Amino acid sequence: MKIDENLLLDKLCQSVKRYIELAIKEYGSYMKPEQLELLNNLKESNDIVRFNNDKTVSFFCMNDYIKIPRYAVGILKKLKWIPGFGANKKHKCYKDGEILNNTTYLGYLKHVIIAGLNYEQFCEESLPHEVIHLCGSGGWDPFREGLTELKARMLSIKYNLPLSRCGYNKEVAIVSAVQDILGEDLMSKIAFTPNEFEVMSFVVDKYGADVFEKLVQIRSKMRVVCSYKNVHSNGILSPIKKILSYDKLDYSEVWPIIEELKQEVEKNQYKTDLKYDGIMDYIRSKEQTTEIEIEDNKENIKSQR
Ligand SMILES: [Zn+2]
Repeated sequence: MKIDENLLLDKLCQSVKRYIELAIKEYGSYMKPEQLELLNNLKESNDIVRFNNDKTVSFFCMNDYIKIPRYAVGILKKLKWIPGFGANKKHKCYKDGEILNNTTYLGYLKHVIIAGLNYEQFCEESLPHEVIHLCGSGGWDPFREGLTELKARMLSIKYNLPLSRCGYNKEVAIVSAVQDILGEDLMSKIAFTPNEFEVMSFVVDKYGADVFEKLVQIRSKMRVVCSYKNVHSNGILSPIKKILSYDKLDYSEVWPIIEELKQEVEKNQYKTDLKYDGIMDYIRSKEQTTEIEIEDNKENIKSQR
């Protein structure tokens, strides 16, 4: 596989700029002003995509550029010799419109082989996720990676972007369940707010401290299960190591806490409904009426005397 590196970097850079535009259109109102300023400056840059020369097949997002793995060029070259490479150029790991799927990293490797991806396509399928990072979503934390991938998938579905939708499937399932409970608006606020104190104030303001406590428990439990230090390994076996270490991740203890989060929000919802349905106002107005009636009765009693 011979690639013109400058041409490739330029093409990927143009894709990144387009994805940035779409991410701003979709999530710009949740982004920090300084992040938006940085993204607007990147529109003028032709250096947003650079090669990473380490022996890894992972993509990384830095402050103002994305690192793509040069090492994967050689690995893709070797995969080309596997029988069935490129057997179905249109192969996908997901059904259209579906956020969640069960594809593992092994399934992803099979996808690369069956679809016969070239290096450019291989990069393109990872860029929407990296662009969400570039927009300020943070990372190196399983909850944040799941949230980044969830937002990337939502963007990809809406604008038909070529995301593999294989990354962080277990984390996306968790974060998506949390989003169903806390709502898309709050989760988008969290996604583009890397400052955890601000995140705390958003959640406490909307749902109270008990709900925030449950969210902290979910995130801590996820961190105990996954540190990612094995997921991003080096060397010729790195794809295999990534497959094996990811398959071992077991988040089963997180799911009962999600159920508790749901119950906590429902309790809170009940309180909120009371307030906004005007029931409290109604009770207060009744109290006033009762007081007036008592006053009136006293007067009546006096006059009767
Ligand atoms: Zn990521």
